[in-house]
Amino acid sequence: MKQDFYAVLGVAKDAGEADIKKAYRKLAMECHPDRNNGDKAAEERFKLVTEAYEVLRDPDKRAAYDRFGHQGARGGAGGAGGGGFSSMHVDLSEALMVFMRDFGFASGREGGGGFGGFETLFGGGTRRDRRRGHDIKVGLKLTLAEVATGTTKTVRIKSLEPCPECAGTGAKPGTQPVLCGTCGGTGEVRHQAQSLFGQFLTVSPCPTCAGEGTVVPSPCDRCGGDGRVKGEKTIQIDVPAGVADHHYLTLRGQGVPGPRNGPRGDLIAVLDIKEDPRFERHGDDLVYDLGITFTQAALGAQVEVPTPFGQTTLRVEPGTQTGMAYRLRAKGLPRLGEGGHGDLHVRIHVWTPTKLTAEQRKLFEKLSEVEDAPPEKESGKFWDTIRRALGQL
Ligand SMILES: [Zn+2]
Ligand SMILES: [Zn+2]
Repeated sequence: MKQDFYAVLGVAKDAGEADIKKAYRKLAMECHPDRNNGDKAAEERFKLVTEAYEVLRDPDKRAAYDRFGHQGARGGAGGAGGGGFSSMHVDLSEALMVFMRDFGFASGREGGGGFGGFETLFGGGTRRDRRRGHDIKVGLKLTLAEVATGTTKTVRIKSLEPCPECAGTGAKPGTQPVLCGTCGGTGEVRHQAQSLFGQFLTVSPCPTCAGEGTVVPSPCDRCGGDGRVKGEKTIQIDVPAGVADHHYLTLRGQGVPGPRNGPRGDLIAVLDIKEDPRFERHGDDLVYDLGITFTQAALGAQVEVPTPFGQTTLRVEPGTQTGMAYRLRAKGLPRLGEGGHGDLHVRIHVWTPTKLTAEQRKLFEKLSEVEDAPPEKESGKFWDTIRRALGQL
């Protein structure tokens, strides 16, 4: 005696389509063979709930079932919608197919597929363990100005893209991938083996379908069944401010698609930051070498210095020596992920003129008559200051 289908799914006689679907999904996941490790009772239950679902989700079959019970469902409800329920017996692969068709994802067996929880992997109603595509590595050239502000780069990538002919399925248009006969769609084969310690179960990827669960009987002409063809795409990559040469950016799921709509690999952008001849970079701090004249050094001056964001004004104090460094706080590069900026260190070089005009010579000669001799042991001290500031001492 067949159980009542409404009772099997635990829904009311007037349950709507959404309720039926929801109830089936919950029950099917509980007793899905992948989660029950070969438990025959669970498998039977999985087949039964799937059978009940297949009848109740279809308005014609459901109407026939309501009128005539199991006989009505068997009769195919007059075939208005075509393809009536020709047999009341649902075998396991059919049940698995139904589940996949309507939920499009694997049963979520822990630890196996590399994903926790239930997520939609692919719309095509195919199986888990799809082979993931390769990662793509691209070099991203950046200027220091771009590092300072952050930027968006557009890169053109030649790789493989889903075949437009077969929408990535690998199946000739008008045909469908079918459930793999070897593994029944599970993507794996189980062997009962005997060892000294007793029986154990080995599970390995199905050799026929390479773990995909489906096979393509008539391959697409364009991609030869792989589901991918050579293609090009343009990707925008957001580069945060403050990145350094050793950083790379990973864009998840932007790499090469796997065969037959398998998940994409990642796109990895390796940064190549062009040196800015004006600056020495030490992490977020920058060093700029500033040449000043004798008179600027002696009298003091306002001098323009560059920063990665534009010019700024530095007040050179009277009596500034070669090797002294001025620290311009927060005028360096942004601190990645921390907020704020590094500093700009301005290293002073007092420039000695190499050619003098007659007038300059006269003035220097005049100055030489009144100037003081430099004190001993002054040099070196200022270099220490800057090295300390940069953490090199
Ligand atoms: Zn297989
Ligand atoms: Zn194709």
